Amino acid sequence: MRDATLDTPKQTAATSAPFGTVFSKWMPLSRFADGRWSEVETVPVAPLSIHPGAHVLHYSSTCFEGLKAFRMPDGSIRIFRLDRHVERFRSSSELLCLPTPPAEMLEQMVRSVVELSRDDVPAPPGALYLRPLLIGTEANIGAAGTASTEALLYVLASPVGDYFAGGGRPLRILIEEEAMRCAPGFGMAKTGGNYAAALRHIIQARNEHNADQVLFCPGGDVQETGASNFFLLDDRRLMTKPLDGSFLHGVTRDSVITLARHLGYEVLERDFTVDEVKDWIRTGEAALSGTAAVLTGVGTFIHEGKEYQVGDGRVGRNTQRLREALVAIQTGVAEDPFGWLS
Ligand SMILES: *Cc1c(COP(=O)(O)O)cnc(C)c1O
Repeated sequence: MRDATLDTPKQTAATSAPFGTVFSKWMPLSRFADGRWSEVETVPVAPLSIHPGAHVLHYSSTCFEGLKAFRMPDGSIRIFRLDRHVERFRSSSELLCLPTPPAEMLEQMVRSVVELSRDDVPAPPGALYLRPLLIGTEANIGAAGTASTEALLYVLASPVGDYFAGGGRPLRILIEEEAMRCAPGFGMAKTGGNYAAALRHIIQARNEHNADQVLFCPGGDVQETGASNFFLLDDRRLMTKPLDGSFLHGVTRDSVITLARHLGYEVLERDFTVDEVKDWIRTGEAALSGTAAVLTGVGTFIHEGKEYQVGDGRVGRNTQRLREALVAIQTGVAEDPFGWLS
C-alpha cells in the first residue's frame, strides 16, 4: 500500500525545505578554454568532474550571483532585475581576474534555466532562486599569481519559499566593530572568499549571543551584515551607507531606495556610526535587505555585551510597508513603474 505522505506535492516539499537545498534537474553550462566560451549546453544537475589541481580549489577564483524569478498572477514567469545582476556578475568576475562572460550570453543562460525549470517555480510568496556561478578550472597549482586560463560557468535554479514567512520574526544582530567582513576594496565582489572570511564571526555571534547575523562596522563605520545591506528608517526617512568599495552593492538596496523615494521618503545615503544606530533605534527602525531576505526588520542589537531593543522590538511599520510594496511589484500584483521585471 502507498504511504499517503509520499503524495505531498513536490512544490510544497520544495518550498518548505531549507532555502537553497532543493535544485531543479537541468542547468545551462559553458566552458572557457583557448580564449573562448563554448556553445552553451544543457546538462543534468549532478556531480561535476574537475581536476584536483583546479585554480578555484586552491586560489578561490570564483564569483556568483543570486536573483529570483516569480510566478505572475496570469501564470507567466518573470525575472527581477536581470540586467543589474548580470552587470554585477561581470564586475565580480573582473575583480577576480576570471574570464568575463558576455552579458547577452549570461542573460540567455539565466532565461534558459528559468525555461527549463518552468514547472518548479512556486507561487508567491515562493520564487525560483537563480544562482549563476563562475569558477577558474585551470589545473595549475603554481598559478597563485596568475589568472586561470580556463573556467566553468553554469546557472543553478532552486525553488524557495518565503525566507522569513510574513516579513518575519525580528532579527537579533550583533554589532562587530573590530573584524572586517572582507578585504577593503573587495566588498563589491560577490565571491566565496568573502563569506569564508566572515563565517567565524557569524558562528561565534550565534553561539555566544544567539544572534542571527553580524553587522560589520569596522572602526565604528556601519557597513553591512554577512549577506545583506543595512538600513535605518522611520516615518519620513531612509538611511544607508553610500556606495563605496567596502560592501556589496545590493540590487535590493537599490530597489528599496528607489521605492522609498517614490513613496515620498527622504533618502539619506551617507556614512554613519554605531552611536548613531543606537540613537536612531530608540524611536526608529532598522532592517536588512537582500534577494533572499527581501527587507527584514531588526528587533534587537547586541553591542559590547549589552542588548538594545529597536523601538518596541517588533518589525517596524515602515519596514513592513516597503517590504510589501517591493513584493507586490516582484510578484506582479502591483504595477512595475520602474521596468524591473523581464
Ligand atoms: C548578495 C549580497 C547582498 C544583497 O544583494 P542583493 O542584490 O540585494 O541580493 C548584500 N550583501 C552581501 C554581502 C551579499 O552577498
